[in-house]
Amino acid sequence: MKRRSGPDPPPQCSVCGQPPVIRLRDPDRHLCADHLGSDLLERVARTIRTHAMLRSGDRIAVAFSGGKDSTALLLLLDRLLPKGKDISLVAITIDEGITGYRQDTIRSAEHLARHLGIEHAIVSFSDLFGKDLDALLAGREERACSICGILRRKALSHAAREAGATKLATGHNLDDEAQSVLMNVLRGDLPRLVRDSGAPSHGCFLPRIKPLMEVPEKEIAVYLTVNDSFPDLPQCPYTRYALRAGVRSRLTGFEYRHPGTMRRLVEGKDRLEKALDGVQLGGAITRCGECGEPCSGTVCQTCRLIDSLLK
Ligand code: SF4
Ligand code: ZN
Repeated sequence: MKRRSGPDPPPQCSVCGQPPVIRLRDPDRHLCADHLGSDLLERVARTIRTHAMLRSGDRIAVAFSGGKDSTALLLLLDRLLPKGKDISLVAITIDEGITGYRQDTIRSAEHLARHLGIEHAIVSFSDLFGKDLDALLAGREERACSICGILRRKALSHAAREAGATKLATGHNLDDEAQSVLMNVLRGDLPRLVRDSGAPSHGCFLPRIKPLMEVPEKEIAVYLTVNDSFPDLPQCPYTRYALRAGVRSRLTGFEYRHPGTMRRLVEGKDRLEKALDGVQLGGAITRCGECGEPCSGTVCQTCRLIDSLLK
């Protein structure tokens, strides 16, 4: 006898049976808003432990643009590191000077830092480099993201050191990490491929940590939405020049059809990094003669870029 097939029963949270807000596919499960929050917090705490990202006495500068990833990072670190404990937070926002974009994100960042009672410093490109990004880019718009990225790293290191930080935390998520692996492969940049690790980078003046590096972007977006914290902000006008945009859409498609693709890509890179431990890739690491940061020549890429932009 043929069994009658009815509609599928509505999905339930795999932990408590309540209506779910998200389906996670690696491994496959549904989670309600509460269990997404606790699951996420637990996984971020595990990433921090596994990679020994924090130490007693640390002062963590959080790179806080006011966008969704850095908002989630600040909220989760604030929950994981209660005030009065021996690890403190300071939020750092960089104002690159992008007309029609940055002012809204800065207002949103100020609002959240104040709400959480977290110290907040704002540093602008024009204070540090004498010009804002729009002016620095005149005629070089197609290089916007690489110039912006290099200068922002410099500005963040500077502001974090000024704030007395011992480490710099950034909101890079699993999608960002997987995209970076693929972009470095597409550029054939092996030294950068194995250098862009999520563990504290002790070669630099200020070690960088990425507590969200194992969290998919979709989860961050849903977590913020169900907690009423999703920053609804304009998009940077230079996004269209980014190589990352094309890589992102292709990787998202692979992840949908083959769940776990992004995690496997990052894990493959980690294995390569371990296999190459101790192997010298690119030039020997020295100190930049102008700013003292680690580099592979006499003057670092950032200082060379700044000199050429200001000529
Ligand atoms: Fe900078 Fe590019 Fe991001 Fe705009 S999209 S803030 S130019 S890195
Ligand atoms: Zn330098």
